[in-house]
Amino acid sequence: MNLDKILELIPKTDLHCHLDGSLRPETILDIASKENILTSDIDLNTLEKQVKVLGKCNSLKQYLDKFNLPIKIMQSEKNIYRVTTELLEDAIKKNIKYIEIRFAPFNHLAGNLKPEQVIETVLSAMDYGRKNLGIMSNLILCILRQESPQLGIKVVELAKKYFSRGVAAIDLAGDETNFPPEIHSESFNLARKYGIHRTIHAGETGISENILKSIKILHAERIGHGTYAYKDKETLKYLIEHEIPLEVCITSNVNTSAVNSYREHPIKKYLDEDIMVTVNTDNITVSNTDIIQEFKYLVKYQNFDFKDIKKVTENGINCSFASEEDKNNLRNDYYSFINNTKAIDS
Ligand SMILES: [Zn+2]
Repeated sequence: MNLDKILELIPKTDLHCHLDGSLRPETILDIASKENILTSDIDLNTLEKQVKVLGKCNSLKQYLDKFNLPIKIMQSEKNIYRVTTELLEDAIKKNIKYIEIRFAPFNHLAGNLKPEQVIETVLSAMDYGRKNLGIMSNLILCILRQESPQLGIKVVELAKKYFSRGVAAIDLAGDETNFPPEIHSESFNLARKYGIHRTIHAGETGISENILKSIKILHAERIGHGTYAYKDKETLKYLIEHEIPLEVCITSNVNTSAVNSYREHPIKKYLDEDIMVTVNTDNITVSNTDIIQEFKYLVKYQNFDFKDIKKVTENGINCSFASEEDKNNLRNDYYSFINNTKAIDS
């Protein structure tokens, strides 16, 4: 079996995928047209340019602006259910067997929905995905750095309410430059007290000290991106010694100019230094990618071989916030693929 075929068929996970960054452009156009959200008639081509980053942005802000239109259409239960189901359909087509979807519930209240309704709608689409599409999933609720600490605590309380029903964790996302992690320490302490998992976007766009702050002050169990960990030896050492996983999303890092190119990304260095690296999409639409494409970039620009692919895939299962039962299902699926691949190749 050639490597392209392996990348297609190997059972995969995606631990870092923003729902609002992963809407089908066709769906955005369909809903925006029906609900008169667009100010003028545009075709799919033009819309794609509005919601995708093709190449590089000048700043993280320019990248984040791509979410404005998708969020505008995600203000009703019907639309939120549709886009979540479609994301799960798209993921299973790429042989993602387990996905952790994340989003900020307070971004979806403009249509008078309550945060509980927003979360329950996503959870019911995830339940549909598990029962009808054969894709396992968990939900991560994002606290936005620029929001008040009080709102962050509300997100934690919502995560607690839905913890046994599919919400696994909280996340801290948004502008890392102007809002350091410690602003939200109370929320993350509370989440830890409640036994809710924690992941934090840190060291994505240059500030490497946010990585250790997120782990030591906010008790992050995983780090979103961690691209700039290499800037600080202490950070690297800590990640290795404490086996803190990194949710790496290389195309997104190229888009935001966190790295100059795919080739210059530190992912292979991290993997070779035994950091728990996982491979993820971040935003399927905004970054104009998918999980198979991300692996292809790693093969092309980072010299990933089958051994590396297996390692990050196994890390994805082991570092997930999935239940033990789901992890066992994932492992069974993964090892049966690996054993069959050996049988084909021998
Ligand atoms: Zn992200």
